[in-house]
Amino acid sequence: MELTVLGCSGSFGAPGGGACSGYLVRSGSTSVWVDAGNGTFGHLQQHVALEDLTAVVLTHGHPDHCVDIYGLHVALRYGIGREHVPVYAPEGLEKFLLALVSDWDDTFDWRAVGDGDHDRIGGIDLRFSRTDHPPPTYALEATADGRRLVYTADTGPGWSVDAFGPGADLVLSEATYLHRDRPAPIHLSGREAGQAAREAAARRLVLTHLWPFLDRTEIATEGAEAYGDAVTLAESGMTTTI
Ligand SMILES: [Zn+2]
Ligand SMILES: [Zn+2]
Repeated sequence: MELTVLGCSGSFGAPGGGACSGYLVRSGSTSVWVDAGNGTFGHLQQHVALEDLTAVVLTHGHPDHCVDIYGLHVALRYGIGREHVPVYAPEGLEKFLLALVSDWDDTFDWRAVGDGDHDRIGGIDLRFSRTDHPPPTYALEATADGRRLVYTADTGPGWSVDAFGPGADLVLSEATYLHRDRPAPIHLSGREAGQAAREAAARRLVLTHLWPFLDRTEIATEGAEAYGDAVTLAESGMTTTI
C-alpha cells in the first residue's frame, strides 16, 4: 500500500500554494482520495487519472477537508462524463455541501459512514472511528495486504489512534500546534500526537495538518520526544510505502 500526501497544511493554505488536507492511498489498481481539502484536487491529478480514481473519503465537513469535492464533481460530470464514484462521508454531509451546487446528479454514490463502520473498496479495507472534533468526524483505518494505515483526521486528545488497536504500520496524525501554544482542545499538539502514537505502538509516525505558522523543526522535535523515536513531517508530494 502506498500513501501520497497531496496537502498537509492545517486549517488554511500555506504560503506558496501549500494545500490543506488530502491524501492518496493506493494498493494495486485501487486509488482512494482521502480528504479533499482546498488545493488538493490539482495535486491529485498529478498522481492518478480521474478515470482510475476508485473512491473518495471525506472525514468531515470542515472546508480544509472537503471543498475540492466540487472540482471533482465538475470534472467528472462535465469533463469526462463519469458517474457513480463512491464517496464515503459523515451522514448529512452530502446535503450540507449541496448548498453550492444545484444538484449532484449521479456523479457520486454517497455512502454515509458512522462510528465503527467498515467496507471494502477494491483491494483496501476501510474502517471508521468517530474522533474528538466538533462536526461529526471519522478517523480512517486502511488495510491492504496485511499492512495498516491509520489516519486521525482532525481530533482533540479525547480520541486516540488506539481505537483501531495497537501496532499500526503507519500512523498519519494531525499535529496542529506546539503544545505550549494550543488554543483549544479540538486539535492535537505535536506532543499529544507523539504520545498517542507511542501508546498505540505505532511503527511509524507521520505528522500532518501542520498549522502554517508552525516552526517545522520545533514540531518535529516535540513529536519525536513524545513518540520516543524519529517522526516524519508530511510534505506535499511525498510518497511512502506502507
Ligand atoms: Zn482541519
Ligand atoms: Zn476540522
